Amino acid sequence: MRVAFLGLGIMGRSMAANLVKAGHEVTVWNRSGGKEVEGARSAATPADATMNAEVVWMCVSDTKAVEAVLLGPGGAEPSLAAGSIIADSSTISPSATLRFAARVKARGVDWVDAPMTGSKIAAEAGSLIFMAGGDEAVLARLQPLFQAMGKQVFHMGETSKGQATKLVMNLQIALIYEGFAEALTLGTRLGVDVGKLLPLIQASMVRSGVVDYKAPFIMKRDFSPNFPLRLMLKDIRLALEAAKESRVRLPGLEAVEEVYDVAAEEGQQDLDYAATLTLLEKWAGVEVRAGSQ
Ligand code: NAP
Repeated sequence: MRVAFLGLGIMGRSMAANLVKAGHEVTVWNRSGGKEVEGARSAATPADATMNAEVVWMCVSDTKAVEAVLLGPGGAEPSLAAGSIIADSSTISPSATLRFAARVKARGVDWVDAPMTGSKIAAEAGSLIFMAGGDEAVLARLQPLFQAMGKQVFHMGETSKGQATKLVMNLQIALIYEGFAEALTLGTRLGVDVGKLLPLIQASMVRSGVVDYKAPFIMKRDFSPNFPLRLMLKDIRLALEAAKESRVRLPGLEAVEEVYDVAAEEGQQDLDYAATLTLLEKWAGVEVRAGSQ
């Protein structure tokens, strides 16, 4: 298929590379220069990339970025062909998604919100899990592209339900990780050996994919970004906004937001969200490591 891929960050670059590998005709665009994908044509603007595309796949930071890429100067909108599809893998506001979808619908363009879970490693391996919102028949047309980038697609309902689902997924990741990080911090303060605690966690019902993914990085004290803290904070805020709009109270997530706020203020925004552990450590006056008794 002829695909315009807009946004070559941690996730987008590998996703676009996997589309090329699967034999699709890919044109890429990124806001800042110097990011390319081997085998893909590089375009100067989103409008240029979108010309003649059957599918426009976006993977940018947030709601404002999607708006800029679509409707800003040089944005994709004027080049969208009737009958084409926009697929958005950025994690953005569900209500803004409905507004964007209605706007492009007027040009005969379908919108599929397709945020994903799996982080950097799964993006590279082509094993992302997508949660999609949109028309079943439109999703079916995207199957070859989903297959090239991921291992599963969950169709969650009509447009915006993919984004709504993504927010409730990241709400859980943020709370699970916070629980894990607080347990490691208190455990260390109480003299529990983290080297012995981790196998116990993994053998018990406390086990989780979040712990499986993050524990090796924590043990290496590697907080380089797989999923940057600033993006997790954005998703926490999106979930709290959606909760406010629908009159739902989320006291646990509100407390976690404060931790992320302070971590961001302390300059950790571009580290992985796992770095929030270091803030808890600082408050407790400990450092989590195996063999600490
Ligand atoms: P990233 O590495 O920070 O990349 C962000 C991309 O958005 C870059 O291409 C950036 O361009 C572009 N961008 C930001 N603001 C823009 C604007 N105003 N106009 C145009 N382009 C703009 O982020 P990522 O990790 O790839 O994540 C992308 C999306 O996927 C986010 O919504 C994130 O929440 C979601 N996500 C990420 C992960 C993960 O583990 N990393 C997992 C699931 C979902 P520049 O290069 O010019 O800055």
